[in-house]
Amino acid sequence: MADRKHALLTASGAHRWMSCTPSARLEETLPDSTSEYAKEGTLAHSIAELKVRKKFIEPMGPKAFNTRMNKLKKDPLYQEEMQACTDGYLDYITGVSMQYPSRPYMAVEKKLDFSRYVPEGWGTGDCIIIGGNTLHVIDYKHGKGVPVSPEDNPQLKLYGLGALEAYGMLYDIHNIVLTIFQPRADGDTVKEWSISRDDLANWGVFTVRPLAEKAFAGEGEFHGGDWCRFCRARNTCRARADQYTALEDFGSPHSKTVTGTLPMPPLLSDAEVGAVLEKAVSLEKWVSDLKEYALTACLAGKEIPGWKAVEGRKTRIWDDPDAAFADITAAGIEEAMLYERKPLTLAGIEKMLGKARFTEVAGTHVTVSNGKPALAPLSDSREAISLKPSAAEDFTPNAGTAEPAEEKPLSKAEKMFRGLPPYDGPSNIVRSDPYFAKANNL
Ligand code: SF4
Repeated sequence: MADRKHALLTASGAHRWMSCTPSARLEETLPDSTSEYAKEGTLAHSIAELKVRKKFIEPMGPKAFNTRMNKLKKDPLYQEEMQACTDGYLDYITGVSMQYPSRPYMAVEKKLDFSRYVPEGWGTGDCIIIGGNTLHVIDYKHGKGVPVSPEDNPQLKLYGLGALEAYGMLYDIHNIVLTIFQPRADGDTVKEWSISRDDLANWGVFTVRPLAEKAFAGEGEFHGGDWCRFCRARNTCRARADQYTALEDFGSPHSKTVTGTLPMPPLLSDAEVGAVLEKAVSLEKWVSDLKEYALTACLAGKEIPGWKAVEGRKTRIWDDPDAAFADITAAGIEEAMLYERKPLTLAGIEKMLGKARFTEVAGTHVTVSNGKPALAPLSDSREAISLKPSAAEDFTPNAGTAEPAEEKPLSKAEKMFRGLPPYDGPSNIVRSDPYFAKANNL
């Protein structure tokens, strides 16, 4: 989880400061803010920690456990779903600990010092397990928006380096298993990735340390990318803005091609469409960050030329729902007409029960329909689909159907052009061309 009370170069921010080394010092000049989601994550971590502590580290009676749990449940951000999520986390940790013939070493919420590689660097590991020659670094992620992979994940690798600093002299560790446990995201709840001790140490010395030294000194080039989403400078960073102003590269229809001889074609090529869309995906997020920044600024009395803060759409609510319903029924309206009985959605019931319980009691009733085609970047892990018939289908009449298909009546245009060769473009138009003849009533 996010490092608590904070190093300059945090493990959770490593993807950002390793990609854009001056960002750490720039962030220092800007106010920090914690989102509701982050606060929810912190609460879920505390529940998970309490459960793991009780089972493995600090045995406690039901009374002590319930007192501590009830205190956490009083948090306004508490949701019942957190119980199922953290039960799954506890089950996973129990499973890992049972892989070993004797009880492995275990620590939770462990402060991990990786300052050998990153100046003043430290972070907090959710759960560390050492069994045999293997060190497990387990990170609980409560967020569901972006599935996180442990593969080459710099946050987890830094935790791994910190854990090696703490335990490398005490245990004969050869292998490090990095795990993300993310119960609410799409895809696998548990993802593991392994790296050898030597490879991890080499990464620390040859990759991280030079970048961390630059970042600590505030040196290097600003460099925008997907890591900007979590940067405090994301709203007004010029380097981030630069990525989008490059859209002008596509030029106007009046500009010339690279050779300077021909005018730019009036239509974008497919390659250009791909390039524009690639920028547009993060452009959308950037515009939303800019709007959020400008609204906050306007509300604080600053002037953003061309923009102002206004009151949004008004909504009507009952001042006292019980009194309102009493007045309505007193006026002769049947009470039954004021209520509707609706089932919870499938997702709502899964949220209430948790994934495991849901699968157990209702999993057999779930069918999955085909999703509507959607556009995704090439990096998306889903398989590409196409509605274009395959070559075999093209040449097999009525392929895939038991009955011969009925012949569809031809449209007027189809009758007109039936049997004519395909249109090859204007350069092929000659008087003998049948399209030309038809078009000119010859
Ligand atoms: S917003 Fe992006 S480019 Fe700008 S400082 Fe932050 S990480 Fe670097």
